[in-house]
Amino acid sequence: MIRTLRLRLTAWYLAFFSALFLLLCVLLYGALSRGMQRRLDATLASQAGTAAKLFQEELEEMHGDAEGAAADVLAELQPSGQVVAILEDTRILAGGTAAQQPELVAAANAARAAQAEETVIGLPRWGAYGARAAARRFSDRGRSFTVLAVESLDSIAADLRSLRRALALALPLLILIAGAGGYWLTRRGLAPLGAMATQAKSITSRNLQARLEIGNAAEELGLLATSFNELLSRLDQSFESMRRFVQDASHELRTPLAVIRGEADVALSRERTAGEYRDSLATIQQESQRLSRLVDDLLNLARADAGRVQLRIEELYLNDLLAECCRSLQPLAAARNIELQCRCAEDVSFRGDEGLLRRMVINLLDNALRYTPPGGTVSATLETQGPDVRIRIADTGIGIAPEAAQRVFERFYRADESRSRQQDGFGLGLSIVKWIAESHHGAVELNSRPGAGSTFTVRLARN
Ligand code: ADP
Repeated sequence: MIRTLRLRLTAWYLAFFSALFLLLCVLLYGALSRGMQRRLDATLASQAGTAAKLFQEELEEMHGDAEGAAADVLAELQPSGQVVAILEDTRILAGGTAAQQPELVAAANAARAAQAEETVIGLPRWGAYGARAAARRFSDRGRSFTVLAVESLDSIAADLRSLRRALALALPLLILIAGAGGYWLTRRGLAPLGAMATQAKSITSRNLQARLEIGNAAEELGLLATSFNELLSRLDQSFESMRRFVQDASHELRTPLAVIRGEADVALSRERTAGEYRDSLATIQQESQRLSRLVDDLLNLARADAGRVQLRIEELYLNDLLAECCRSLQPLAAARNIELQCRCAEDVSFRGDEGLLRRMVINLLDNALRYTPPGGTVSATLETQGPDVRIRIADTGIGIAPEAAQRVFERFYRADESRSRQQDGFGLGLSIVKWIAESHHGAVELNSRPGAGSTFTVRLARN
C-alpha cells in the first residue's frame, strides 16, 4: 500500500504512461513490419514482371528454346539478394539452388492454384525466417510458364530485431525519466498543501484569528484555503460568543452569591435577634430564588444551543393559553396600578409545546409590566392572519431606543443597565423568547418608541 499521496499520484502517472508507451510500441512495430513486407512484395512483383517480359522476348528470339531463353534471362538480370526462377509447369528451367528447388516448385503450384496472372505467396519453410515470392504466369504456344522472384525475410527480421532491441532499451529509460518528472511535478503541485497543513497545525483555540495564506484563490488549493479560513471565522465567532457567554454568566452569578454571602457574614458576625435573623434569611431566600431562576435560564439556553431540547408538541388553544397567562399576572399588574387587557376571544388552535409557549408569553408580559410606569396599559392580543398566528404584547411604557432595539434579543443585553437590574432582570428573557419562537418555526419583532411604549409581535406558523 502506497501511503503518501505524492507517491500514489506518481505511481498512477507511471502506470498510465507505461501503458501508453507500450501501446505506442505495439502499434509502431505492427505498422513498420507490415510496411516493410508490402514494400518487399512490390519490389518482388516488379522483378517478376521484368523477368517474365525478358523471358517472353528471349523465347520469341530463340524460337521456343525455353531452357536457353531462361538461362539468358538469368544471366542478364543477375539478381542480387533475390532468387529468380523460371518454370515450365513444375519443371525448373533455370534459377535456385538444389536445396531451394522443392520450395520453388511449391510456389509455382500455389500460383497455379490461385489461377491469377500475378500472385504473391508466403514461403514459411525458406531459410530461418521464411520468404516472400512473387509469381507471374503466362502461356506461349500452348506451353505454360511461371516466373518467380523470391526473397527471404532475413533482412526484415534483422531490422525488426534491432527495432525491438531499441524499444526494449528505451522503455525502462523512459519510465525512469517519466517517474522522476512525475514525482517532481506532484511534489511541486502538492507543496502548497504541505505549507497549508503546517500553518493549520499552528492554529489553536488561542489564535483562532490566524488565517491560512491564500495563493491563487481560483485554484483548487486556493478554494480549499478559502473554505478553511471561512470555517476558522465561524469557529472564531462561536468561540468568542461562548467566551462572552461564560464571562457574562459568571458575572451575573457573582452578584446574588455575593449578596447571600454578605448577608450570612453579617448575620453571623454577632448574636442577633430573631427578627434580624428572619430578615437575613428572607434576603437569602430571595437571592437564592433569583439565583435558581438565572441558573434555569442558563441551562435552558445551553440546552437549546446544544440542540438537546425536545419540544413536547401537543394540540392546544392559544387563546386559552394567553388568557391564563394574563390571569396569572393580573395581581402583579394590579399591584403596580397597570391595566392589563387580554383580547383573545376567538378560539385559535395550535400545535406546539405548551410549557415553552406559556414561558414566552409570561416573559413578554412580565417585561411589559416591569418597564411600564403606574397608570399605564399593557395589552395582549391574539390575531390570525392566513396560516399565521400573531401574539402581540403592547405596553405604554418607557420604550426602547432604536440602537438598543437591535440588541435586546442578545443574551445578557440590557437596554438600561441600572433600571433593568433594579427590575430584577438578567437580560436573558428576550433571548429565551426568540429561541422559543424560532423553535416553533416563528419569529419575534419589536416596534418601539422611547417614551411611548413597545410592541412585541410573535409570528407563529399554524401547521
Ligand atoms: P431583562 O431580564 O433584563 O428584562 P430581557 O432580555 O427580557 O432582559 O430584556 C432585555 C432588555 O430589553 C431589558 O433589559 C430592557 O432594557 C429592554 N426591554 C425589554 N422589554 C421591554 C419593554 N417592554 N419596554 C422597555 N424595555 C424593554
